[in-house]
Amino acid sequence: MAKVFVVAEQREGRLKKSTFELIGASAAGGNETHVVLLGEGIAGLAAELGHYGATKVHVADNAGLKFYTSEAYSKVIVDLLNAEKPEAVLASHTPTGRDLMPRIAARLNVGLASDCTQLSFDGGKLKVRRPIYAGKATVEVEFLGSGPQIATVRANALGIPKPDTSKSAQTATLNVSLSDLKTKVTEVVKGSSARPDVTEAPIVVSGGRSLKNAENFKMLEELADVLGAAVGASRAAVDAGYRPHRDQVGQTGKVVSPTLYIACGISGAIQHLAGMRTSKTIVAINTDPEAPIFQVADYGVVGDLFTVVPVLKEEFKKLKEH
Ligand code: FAD
Repeated sequence: MAKVFVVAEQREGRLKKSTFELIGASAAGGNETHVVLLGEGIAGLAAELGHYGATKVHVADNAGLKFYTSEAYSKVIVDLLNAEKPEAVLASHTPTGRDLMPRIAARLNVGLASDCTQLSFDGGKLKVRRPIYAGKATVEVEFLGSGPQIATVRANALGIPKPDTSKSAQTATLNVSLSDLKTKVTEVVKGSSARPDVTEAPIVVSGGRSLKNAENFKMLEELADVLGAAVGASRAAVDAGYRPHRDQVGQTGKVVSPTLYIACGISGAIQHLAGMRTSKTIVAINTDPEAPIFQVADYGVVGDLFTVVPVLKEEFKKLKEH
């Protein structure tokens, strides 16, 4: 049994589902699963973490931690890890995890395996698998030397365990001192979208250059609304100004791993596949039967998206109504 630390992510008092995946994977490996939870007014979230298998939750509830900054968050976490000396540390491969964990690894002088899609424990040893060459191959990584083995894990890659409300975690309050920081976030200006983020949504409906303009993406939004999905886009669609960059899926966008990915009029360039090929089920709609997207698709529709998408929307609507 290893001592594993999970770095929890919450925004505005709501825990991210990817945190539950990490706790579940650690607990399923028979580990003593600790969670570190940072923010302001978040102490009440500790109970929910216990339902997913956390043994102990270390809470740093402080006004200086209300907004994420790598400087403040890494300071608190590094101090805790130095005191607790866990065998492994897991965080989600979200924008926050991607920013925070390399800094923590550098400060602890240990290695970091990023964007992992599988992990397993053998005693105190963590083994992970991560895609390389834009997802064309995967490598298995083991950690050398001493110190915590650190990995960031792609959201939706592990699956969320069923919560068990009879389970609870011990809580510990961290006394943090943030007096000597060099940076402070004074305001966060939110984007206008009320949709789920592509990295977190269980279903993503994506569109490409073939949508022709921003207005036509409304059609994908309507389908997404029926499915409770996020809307993604290829880089060509983003570069053309049809969607904001935060929706871009791919090598230079976001990496997603939803249960269902519906690619509408996307050719399937290698850089796009790098961001979505680990989706559990891929549906492609394309007029060109030779489009490379069909090589990774589980289901393919050779057809015009302007005809197929409205039909799909109506059919899903009917299914939901029954
Ligand atoms: P196209 O390649 O133009 O494909 C459009 C597709 O739509 C075609 O297959 C066509 O048959 C189909 N089509 C046309 N009309 C219809 C219709 N009415 N109904 C159905 N199908 C239709 N791309 C990304 O997506 N994400 C990235 O992160 C990314 N990063 C990159 C990084 C680098 C360094 C480089 C060099 C490129 C990157 N790209 C990325 C760009 C990538 O190479 C492709 O150019 C891009 O993905 C193409 O987008 P697309 O599929 O929307 O457009």
